[in-house]
Amino acid sequence: MTKYDQWETIIGLEVHVQLNTSTKMFSRTPNHFGDEPNTNVGLVDSGQPGTLPILNKAAVKKAIDLGCGLNAEIPSFCAFDRKSYFYPDSPRNYQITQFFHPIIKGGYVMGNVEGVMKKFPIREAHLEDDAGMLRHFSSFTGVDYNRAGAPLIEIVTEPCITCGKEASAFASALRLILIYLDVSNGNMEEGSMRMDVNISVRPRGEKGLRNKTEIKNMNSFSNMELAIEAEVKRQIDAYTAAPNTPHKEVVPSTTMRFDLPTKQTFVIRSKVGAEDYRYFPEPDLPPLCISREVVEEARKNLPELPEQRHTRYIEKLGLSEYQATLFIHDKALADYFEQGLSGCKNPKALCNWITVEFIGKLKDTGKNLLDIHLQAQHVTALINLIEDKVLTGKVAKILADEMIKSPHKSPEVLMKENPDLIPMQNVDEIETIVQSILDKNPQSIIDYNKGISKAFNFLIGQIMQATKGKASPDIVQQVLLKKLTNS
Ligand code: MN
Repeated sequence: MTKYDQWETIIGLEVHVQLNTSTKMFSRTPNHFGDEPNTNVGLVDSGQPGTLPILNKAAVKKAIDLGCGLNAEIPSFCAFDRKSYFYPDSPRNYQITQFFHPIIKGGYVMGNVEGVMKKFPIREAHLEDDAGMLRHFSSFTGVDYNRAGAPLIEIVTEPCITCGKEASAFASALRLILIYLDVSNGNMEEGSMRMDVNISVRPRGEKGLRNKTEIKNMNSFSNMELAIEAEVKRQIDAYTAAPNTPHKEVVPSTTMRFDLPTKQTFVIRSKVGAEDYRYFPEPDLPPLCISREVVEEARKNLPELPEQRHTRYIEKLGLSEYQATLFIHDKALADYFEQGLSGCKNPKALCNWITVEFIGKLKDTGKNLLDIHLQAQHVTALINLIEDKVLTGKVAKILADEMIKSPHKSPEVLMKENPDLIPMQNVDEIETIVQSILDKNPQSIIDYNKGISKAFNFLIGQIMQATKGKASPDIVQQVLLKKLTNS
């Protein structure tokens, strides 16, 4: 037991999520990542005097969907507030947010913490707009206002997280929900999801919370875990090194930055209190009243969420935990699997062909089934041909190679075009081959009659080889048994 084991960590996350609406939060300017700097900036976004914000209905709709997906309450009344701060990335000198009456209250996310499901309660989520971005050059700093006014929803958890692994489990489960609800693209590299991590520690058993520090703008789960580890250690080291100093002086409330190369957290500034932001109701936007009908409609039309899909794949389709998890983390691939399911005679085989066989065959190309536009129905047709024993596994693999070469052709068409792929089903033809193999291997017949089972398998192998794997193994087995019994 180390000194660290005697301490516990309390973490709350604030997750900023960019909504994938076509326009900004309070204007009709395109909301689009990656364009030339300062090309998506309107009069409202740049805070021109006399301009007024107009609330984006699509952003509200997505917030309602998210509230339903988080099993949260959507109050019938919410409103916007001004958060004042001076910084070059904020042309208005204030952010429009929801401080007093957020659009989402409560709710939870289920996260998988190293195989164990944990419920992470949400405190609230509020709509707000994003700031621009500073870009640092060698001799000056520029500002790109393309992001200014982009719609954000900020999800705030209860202080329910106890370590980096849990923080990651929560954030990655939340990210999947956002993607499945089509609320955000969840693209971490583009900053569509950024986590602020609030951390405090206390000796086990102590009541009440000590000062917390906040690590800003983490946009990778693994870095967030490293940052939490470093900050927890820093705080515990500080407390244990100065046991007689008041706690507030040992770890003041600060905003931190995580430095990846050194894996250390650094203080950027002391923390600003809520009073410094001078929150007050936004006078240019009326409060928002959301009818119960709208909420019920959203709840009714909610798509299947990742957790539900995961459970269905395991319980109804018999997929393994690993396969189900693989699919829910790749929604596009899971949707492809869904397309293939209709009319499929063996979902587990379909899963296996999609996630193992085809991915393996495409590995060297760097592409996947979706990239090459191989229709899911064609993969299903292949599975059904195997299920119906029309195709042997060996021929199916050759056919799969042909399908990759000609993704628009169905397995049936490819079989017609390539006689080598046509299965051998003619019993007379198979009988002739079986007889010729028996003629060549008299010793095996003797062995078989002595009860040596290896001999039977040897003969099957020889016959399948002679038919180039095209004969139905069932027919081969029947014919061989019949001949051996009669010999
Ligand atoms: Mn915020």
